[in-house]
Amino acid sequence: MSHPSPESLRREAAAQLAALRNRTLTPKDRLTIPPQPMPSREPTERIHDVQEVALGYSPEQARLEALRCLQCKNAPCINGCPVRINIPAFLKAIAEERDAEAIAIIRQTSLLPAVCGRVCPQEIQCQERCTVGKALKDVRKAVSIGRLERFVADVERESGRFQPPPTKPETGRRVAVIGSGPAGITVAADVRREGHTVTLFEALHKPGGVLVYGIPEFRLPKAIVELEIETLRAMGVDIRPNFLVGRTRRLEALLHDDGYDAAFIGAGAGLPRFLDIEGENLVGVFSANEYLTRANLMRAYNREQADTPIYPGRNVIVVGGGNVAMDAARMALRLGAKEVHLVYRRTEAEMPARIEEIEHAKEEGVQFHVLHAPRRVIGNAAGRVTGLECIRCRLGEPDDSGRPRPVEIPGSEYILEAETLIVAIGNEPNPLLPQTTTGLKADRRGRLLVDPVTNQTSLPRVYAGGDVVLGSATVILAMGQGRQAAAAINAFLAELPPRKA
Ligand code: FAD
Ligand code: SF4
Ligand code: SF4
Repeated sequence: MSHPSPESLRREAAAQLAALRNRTLTPKDRLTIPPQPMPSREPTERIHDVQEVALGYSPEQARLEALRCLQCKNAPCINGCPVRINIPAFLKAIAEERDAEAIAIIRQTSLLPAVCGRVCPQEIQCQERCTVGKALKDVRKAVSIGRLERFVADVERESGRFQPPPTKPETGRRVAVIGSGPAGITVAADVRREGHTVTLFEALHKPGGVLVYGIPEFRLPKAIVELEIETLRAMGVDIRPNFLVGRTRRLEALLHDDGYDAAFIGAGAGLPRFLDIEGENLVGVFSANEYLTRANLMRAYNREQADTPIYPGRNVIVVGGGNVAMDAARMALRLGAKEVHLVYRRTEAEMPARIEEIEHAKEEGVQFHVLHAPRRVIGNAAGRVTGLECIRCRLGEPDDSGRPRPVEIPGSEYILEAETLIVAIGNEPNPLLPQTTTGLKADRRGRLLVDPVTNQTSLPRVYAGGDVVLGSATVILAMGQGRQAAAAINAFLAELPPRKA
């Protein structure tokens, strides 16, 4: 099935806008405006490269989509947004062609609109609560808040109008931020704005966290993340890549010997979970983290020029049902796999991945095996993967997560052949920092324990947020935690006596 071309979508929206011009729209009129589809590249074309799949709304589509908003007095959508963006206000501004005002409204509370507009799981956040979706009895018909957020963020970036936020006069106070994902970026910006000196330590050679090494270019162009990093540099944040706190230098040394007044840990959850089944150490088994990091950060997708080889697999199996699994499966297609099979224990309704990513994966030819669970990895005499034994399941009673438990059907085992197996069943925080920092407390899954209001850890002057506290979560939740922690750090530093010259 081919997609309508961006130009035909633009023309159709322009005609509909013209018909509505000079009319006072009633709520009923607004409910009859058709939801605007996202223009996207053809699946047959896009699986051969890593360029972005979703192309973004034209101005005409954006105005029309924004007109669908009913401007609800109680605005339930705002409560669904972890950083509480004033959604009706920015949608009204877009509908009235005041794009600069729209982005200014979003920036009051969100630091990464071009990122969140692309990757937020809107259908379970702001858009889930939207009155339009409820009235039309379909969350997919809610106002496309995320796409509109992306639209104004892109307009701003492409116009070159964005200016780094001003910073207050230097206070002489110093803050160490550990990890440069969305949590660390947010804290660095918010703390630097108050005039404090900020050093951002990053273990990898490129800053950006999962935004650069996890989420592929075809969903989130790296140029967008690079601009955010450049903004931090322009604000005066000192970024130190290849610096693994806990190994290169301990957190305690930063605080007690190097003169940092406070530290924020935004180290993410980069430790992959494995299936714990027979054969998992065969050659050809990867964690999704390793597979995607090689593909993204080391540009393994650029097969002619890449320094880092990636294991070639004609047949690839991915185990999991979240965004990470979809990204790994879609990346495998782009790396030349002929067949990609996705194995998931429950049904599609329970998959944690965003609806759009599931649809894109299917369009591109990923074969879904739902209600199937892996039993053991099968290999040859050379120790290489040749397949995965799976068993069929049915749904049982809900488990601790509230989702129905998959129950194996005895005797339904079968073998799926493949040379590559990618495991995408979740991540936990790396234990390095709690192991090397006296008194830094974590729970049994390695998540740092923090005060729910200030994000302070078990140690004075040390704060944490994002995936290192929440386990694998989302970009916007990491950013929200960063905002909360930065406010607490700024309040703590404001109480300190002035620093002697
Ligand atoms: P991270 O982004 O993980 O950044 C942590 C950084 O800290 C890393 O760069 C790491 O190298 C660095 N670090 C770790 N330890 C140290 C140390 N000791 N010293 C110095 N640096 C250190 N979320 C969504 O909302 N939507 C999506 O569509 C989505 N898709 C995803 C797809 C993939 C493949 C993955 C892996 C995740 C996805 N997520 C998605 C989740 C989201 O990316 C994370 O929740 C978010 O990035 C967490 O932000 P963070 O700042 O806490 O950590
Ligand atoms: Fe919705 Fe995410 Fe934007 Fe909030 S940041 S309004 S949840 S898309
Ligand atoms: Fe607009 Fe939907 Fe929010 Fe109402 S709930 S203000 S219709 S976006």
